[in-house]
Amino acid sequence: MLDIERLREETPGCSEVIHFNNAGAALMPRPVLEAVVDHLELEARIGGYEAHDAALDKVEHTYQAVARLIGAEPDEIALVENATRAWDMAFYSIPFQPGDRILTSVSEYASNVISFLQVARKTGAVVEVVPNDEHGQLSVEALRAMLDERVKLIAVSHIPTNGGLIQPAEEIGRVAREAGVLYLLDACQSVGQIPVDVRAIGCDMLSATGRKYLRGPRGTGFLYVRRSLVPQLEPVLLDLHAATWVAPDRYEVRGDARRFENWESYVAGRIGLGVAADYALSVGIEEGAARLRALAELLRQRVAELPGGRVHDLGKERGGIVTFTLDGIAPETIKDYLASKRINVTISTVASTRFDMEARGLDKIVRASVHYYNTEEEIDAFIDALVDLRRQGPEAVHRLMAERAGKRKV
Ligand SMILES: *Cc1c(COP(=O)(O)O)cnc(C)c1O
Repeated sequence: MLDIERLREETPGCSEVIHFNNAGAALMPRPVLEAVVDHLELEARIGGYEAHDAALDKVEHTYQAVARLIGAEPDEIALVENATRAWDMAFYSIPFQPGDRILTSVSEYASNVISFLQVARKTGAVVEVVPNDEHGQLSVEALRAMLDERVKLIAVSHIPTNGGLIQPAEEIGRVAREAGVLYLLDACQSVGQIPVDVRAIGCDMLSATGRKYLRGPRGTGFLYVRRSLVPQLEPVLLDLHAATWVAPDRYEVRGDARRFENWESYVAGRIGLGVAADYALSVGIEEGAARLRALAELLRQRVAELPGGRVHDLGKERGGIVTFTLDGIAPETIKDYLASKRINVTISTVASTRFDMEARGLDKIVRASVHYYNTEEEIDAFIDALVDLRRQGPEAVHRLMAERAGKRKV
């Protein structure tokens, strides 16, 4: 059983806001915050390089903690500045030939698709979207039917940025392994939210970020690359950390996954990332996932009961991201009104998951993403606020907020 009261006490933000923006950036627990601040203070006191030297063990620990979190080994982990760069370092390092096929999901994230399109234009590889099944998740059957010797990569997002859907990552992994095709999993929303084990999933590469469900600091991310693949994957970018200049005309690339890193880094953030991984493990990933999924289901049910409430989440298995609209009220108005009540949500737009949102005729949806530290009382307050908004009508709300903004300026 999770001790929610204690977990909330350890989370300074819980007394400030109702935070349903965990898919954007979750609230850091105090141990993470303290680890980051302590290191920044050490840098200020004794110097950045000297502070790094003094904290080498802590930085090394982060590789171990992150590896443990996802069932990998420390030498398979690269620490980078965000999930996108982690994903990029893997994806752009794959040598594509004309006619190579890249298979991806309907719910793929914009940055990944932009990269597919760029590489397709440059190399003559082709991008193909695997259709969904009747649950709105990637159809494993369709994926299997699309395979041939020209498929070079299967790249999918485990949990998309815009909804509760949890893709069948393990089934996809089985198909990829049977076919001997590279499998890159964007686990940005799943690490810290649900159990993620690279061996069980069978992915070759996995990218994730620190600040989302993992509750780490911003500006942190990591890449996992299966050990036997590391030497075969020459990083698209190199520097004097990823490689060594061993003779005037020669360099040698590192043998471990740190070949995908670069030299200068946010050391305090890296330390904080390790503490966040430790924290997630100590809370219990299974327990945390069970709770946040139950909270999300409750939230979906309550929103669907509102007049004009529409929940947009797909999938047989659903996680902590809840997306919805209210008929006749713009998503921006909902977000702004909730913000005026210190309730945090974001808006997912078509530009971040275009394949999916266009297919469903959606332009903008409100994204309310819950974590295990949220409560049923917060869901009550959230629903009360939406009922209030409906009663007042958008015009009254705009007036109210304009007034409030005017007051703030004085
Ligand atoms: C947020 C997100 C990313 C990007 O992560 P960054 O850390 O911002 O680079 C990638 N994929 C998905 C599915 C995301 O939700």
